[in-house]
Amino acid sequence: MTATATTERVFQGIGVSPGVARGNILVYRTAEEVVPEYDITSDQIPQEIIRFEKALIKTREQLHELQQRIANGVGSDAPSSILDVHISITEDPALIEPVMGRLQSERKNVEHILHDVIHKYIHTLQSLPDDYLRERAGDVQDVAHRILRNLLGREYVGLAKVPPGTIVIANDLSPSDTSSLNRQNVVGFATDVGSHTSHTAIVARSLNLPAVVGLHDVSLHIHDGQNALLDGYSGTLVIEPSQQTLFVYGQIEQKHHGVEERLAALRNLPAETLDGHRIVLAGNIELPSDVPNLLQAGAEGVGLFRTEFLYLNRKDYPTEQEQYEKYLEVARAIKPHPVIIRTLDIGGDKFRSEDGSTESNPFLGFRAIRFCLANVSIFTAQLRAILRASAEGNVQIMYPMISGLSEVIQANDLLDSVKNDLRREGVPFDEDIKIGAMIEIPSAALTAEMIAKEVDFFSIGSNDLIQYTMAVDRVNEKVAQLYDPTHPAILRLIRSVVEAAHNNNIPVAVCGEMAGQPLYVPLLVGMGVDELSVGASSIPRVKEVIRLLKLTDAQELAATTLHVTHGHEVQAMLNALLQRIDPDLVP
Ligand code: PEP
Ligand code: MG
Repeated sequence: MTATATTERVFQGIGVSPGVARGNILVYRTAEEVVPEYDITSDQIPQEIIRFEKALIKTREQLHELQQRIANGVGSDAPSSILDVHISITEDPALIEPVMGRLQSERKNVEHILHDVIHKYIHTLQSLPDDYLRERAGDVQDVAHRILRNLLGREYVGLAKVPPGTIVIANDLSPSDTSSLNRQNVVGFATDVGSHTSHTAIVARSLNLPAVVGLHDVSLHIHDGQNALLDGYSGTLVIEPSQQTLFVYGQIEQKHHGVEERLAALRNLPAETLDGHRIVLAGNIELPSDVPNLLQAGAEGVGLFRTEFLYLNRKDYPTEQEQYEKYLEVARAIKPHPVIIRTLDIGGDKFRSEDGSTESNPFLGFRAIRFCLANVSIFTAQLRAILRASAEGNVQIMYPMISGLSEVIQANDLLDSVKNDLRREGVPFDEDIKIGAMIEIPSAALTAEMIAKEVDFFSIGSNDLIQYTMAVDRVNEKVAQLYDPTHPAILRLIRSVVEAAHNNNIPVAVCGEMAGQPLYVPLLVGMGVDELSVGASSIPRVKEVIRLLKLTDAQELAATTLHVTHGHEVQAMLNALLQRIDPDLVP
C-alpha cells in the first residue's frame, strides 16, 4: 500500500498477532529513553540548579499526594511506608551532591548528569553484599525516573490508565508493561524493536490483540492522539489514514472477517488430520486471565503457563498461597483438560522491575532453572503451590531451560523432598503428577535420550532452541532475518528430540512460537510431534491446517526436508504446501 494523502504515513514492520485495529496513538516512553545531552555555559549553572530543585520539589509533592490517596483507600496498592522511603530518596545527599558537583565540573544539562548519576548509584547498590541495600536499588530507580520525568516535563502515563480505543506505540514494551496494560481500552500495540518471538509478540497473541513489531524508530516519528490503523496481518502501521486507505482496508477486513468466521466454526472440532491422526492442540498463557480467550478458541488444555508473569509488577515475590490460588483457578477453569505449569523462567528478557539485570549476557545468564536451583526457598514455594493445586487432578509441572540431565535430577530431588513435606503435613496432592522438561538448549536436545528417562514428557521451546543453536538473539530485529526455524540444524535437532521421546515412550510437544505459525505446522506434524501449544489467537489457524492435512503427506514432506541443504528451500516447500491446502493462511 502506498501513501495517498499528504498527511498519511505508512510504516512497515513484522505482523505478529492477527487483526486490524483503528484508534488513537499513545506513545509510551519510559523516562530514561531519549534523555537529551547538551553543553551549558557557567552562567547557566544556577538556572540548571533551580530546574533540578524544582523537579525534586515536584517529585516530593507527587509522592505526598500518592501517600494521601493511599490513606484514603484509592489508587496504587503500594504500602505507604514504601513512599516514606521514596520521599527520603529525594533528599538523599548520595544522589543530590554528585549532581550538583558535576554540574560545576562538566557543564552539561542537568537531566544528562542526573541520568548518569542514577546509573552509577543503582549499579553500586546492586553490587553490595547487603540484601536490604541491594533491594533499595529498585526504589532508587523508581524515584530517580520520576525526578527525570519531572525535569523533562513529561507526564507519566501508565498503561493501566489509557482511554478507550488506544493503540500503544513504544520503542519496546517490557513484560511488566504488557502485563499491566488495560485490556479493555488498548486495541492494539506496536514497537520499534522486537521479533516474532519477543515477549511483546507472545503476549499480544495471548491477549488476541493485533500487534506489529520491528518498526525501527517509528516511536520517534509520531505523537499522541494521532489517528492510526494497525494491521497485525501484514505488519503495517498507517498514521492518519486517508479516506481511500480506509476504504481499501474496509474491504481487506471484510475478507479477513470471512476467514475468521470460518475458523471460529472449528472451535469444537478435533485437531485431526484427514487420515485420522489426532494432535493435541493446547494453548499458552501468561496469566490466569488469558484462560477465557483460550477456551473461546477451543484449546485442549494449557500446554505452557509462563508463571514468571505472576512475579512481575510487584516488589515482593508471590507467596505460596497466592500462587496456589492462581494455579488452582487455572486448573479448575481448564478442566477436564490438563494445565502444564512451567516453573519460574525469570531472566533473559523477563526481569522483575525490582531486580533489573546487571548481566552482560542475560540470555546466557542466571535464568530460569539456574535461578530456581540457586534460590531454593523461592523454588520450594512454587513447587509446593503447584503440588497443592495438583490435587485438582489435571496439573503437570515443567522445568524450563534444562541444559542437561543433572539439572533435571536436582529439580526432581527437590520436588521429591517437597512431596515428602506435604505428605508429612497431610496436604493432598496428585501422587502421579507428570513432570516434563523443556528442550530449548542444544545441549539438552543432543542428550534428550538421557533426559527422557527422568521425565514424563518433553516440550520443545523452539524460541530459545533456535536462538541458542543459531546464536541469534530472539528479540533483536537487526538479526531477525537470521532466525530460521527451517535451518537444517534446527530440523535435525527437532527430529532427534522427537525420536528420543518416542524411543522412551514419552510424548513430545512444541510450545514455542513456531508451533503457532501455520507454515510450520505440517513440518512439525510430519516429524512426529504429538502436541502443539500456541497463543490463543493462533489456535483456529493451526487447527484448520491440521484438519486439511494428510499425515502421510506431512511425513513425506518432513522426511524430504531433512535432505534439503538450505532453510529457504524448505520454506519454499512449506509455502507451496500451504498454498495448496489453505491459501488464506499463506503469510
Ligand atoms: C520457548 O523458548 O520456545 C518457550 C516456549 O519459552 P519462552 O518463549 O517463554 O522462553
Ligand atoms: Mg524458552
